[in-house]
Amino acid sequence: MRYAMVIDTLKCVGCSDCVVACQTENNVPLGYCRDWVTETVDGAYPNVELELKSERCNHCDNAPCVRCCPTGASHIVEGGIVLVTDDECIGCGACIESCPYDARYQHPEGGYVDKCTFCHHRLEKGQNPACVEVCPTKCMYFGDLDDPTSEVSELLKTRKHKVLAPEAGTSPNVYYLIK
Ligand code: SF4
Ligand code: SF4
Ligand code: SF4
Repeated sequence: MRYAMVIDTLKCVGCSDCVVACQTENNVPLGYCRDWVTETVDGAYPNVELELKSERCNHCDNAPCVRCCPTGASHIVEGGIVLVTDDECIGCGACIESCPYDARYQHPEGGYVDKCTFCHHRLEKGQNPACVEVCPTKCMYFGDLDDPTSEVSELLKTRKHKVLAPEAGTSPNVYYLIK
């Protein structure tokens, strides 16, 4: 099992429903986020292109946040999901510094570090991550890359795609479908 998220940038309308769903599902404190939407403008008038996309922890195969954690609070579970055990986290912030995607934040009350879990608690019940479930344009896909017949595998076989900051060498598991 190797979980991956695939997001079609050609279908994202930037509505931020994925962000609101995540905040509600995971009790994310006000002013913080586990996922966010970015806008990138490319080209020059009149040939300008706008790319909208939903970003989060990439659940990297080669995760610096796990390697640098002094207590083992940051760890990888089945399917390649990177999690933080709240009560083992001493709030040192090393993982926040090490993440090239700025995917982690320190919980303002608990002091521990928090981030996207791919909604691990929902996966255990056979449900999709909350963001995937609510996206009104259905541009987010979630599944197992080890299964060659899964929707995510098919999309990556047939569509042009990219990952963010490949130069960081983290082997991310969130993919973006592009033109
Ligand atoms: Fe894009 Fe879907 Fe998120 Fe809306 S909910 S911003 S369409 S990924
Ligand atoms: Fe760690 Fe950042 Fe990769 Fe998530 S995106 S696994 S927090 S390095
Ligand atoms: Fe590990 Fe917590 Fe330190 Fe991050 S802040 S490196 S999870 S102990």
